[in-house]
Amino acid sequence: MWAVFLGAPGCGKGTQAQKVSERCGIPKISTGDILRQKVRAGSDLGNRAKGYMERGELVPDEIMLGLLLDRLNTGDTDRGFVLDGFPRTLPQAKGLDSLLAEQGNSLDVVIYFKVNPQLLTKRLSARRTCSKCGAVYNLITNPPSDERVCDLCGGELLIRDDDREETVKGRLKVFEKETAPLTDFYESKGILFPINGDGGVERVCRRIEEVLKGKWPREKGYRLKGQS
Ligand code: AMP
Repeated sequence: MWAVFLGAPGCGKGTQAQKVSERCGIPKISTGDILRQKVRAGSDLGNRAKGYMERGELVPDEIMLGLLLDRLNTGDTDRGFVLDGFPRTLPQAKGLDSLLAEQGNSLDVVIYFKVNPQLLTKRLSARRTCSKCGAVYNLITNPPSDERVCDLCGGELLIRDDDREETVKGRLKVFEKETAPLTDFYESKGILFPINGDGGVERVCRRIEEVLKGKWPREKGYRLKGQS
């Protein structure tokens, strides 16, 4: 299954993408996570992306498409993926279609997370990210046992610089202008599935599963893990 999870920053798509990835045995590809790793590693690409990320702006399309191509060439996406945070612009969406077509594949489903806008800022300020392994928590919807410590690796939990209030406002504007219009693009292809992203992690997860159960391409031989 080739799936895109689309939605504003803070809508919960990263958490849900992780769950679906584990449940279906296909990789979650988060372009934000890849970029943060590259920034931490001080790579050329990381250095080029850093300023854009700190300002809450989009990293240019040609950099992002190159990054995605490299990721798709690592060889673990032949049964599909869940994309989190990509595409964010129309050129990225068209580029993604071309990359997939070259591999003889196409997107099956785009899950669009609709969330009460007033909740987004609140959710983002409650987000904590592990400084060591990158795991993401939310003090409201997905809390760690200890606010400051990662349950998975014991690393320190921090607030991402771009989750601070001033940057968040800019990121939400960028989403409305550049990314929200992608819903029209995917709707016209008949693969857009809006879901209500409000509520706890498990409730939202069930709504996504309802969509995927209907859409899951069993005829292509894929199964949810544990399904006979
Ligand atoms: P995220 O973790 O998805 O919120 O991404 C964090 C930041 O990385 C964004 O605010 C952008 O600066 C950058 N970024 C991640 N994915 C993309 C993308 N597909 N296109 C452009 N910039 C991106």
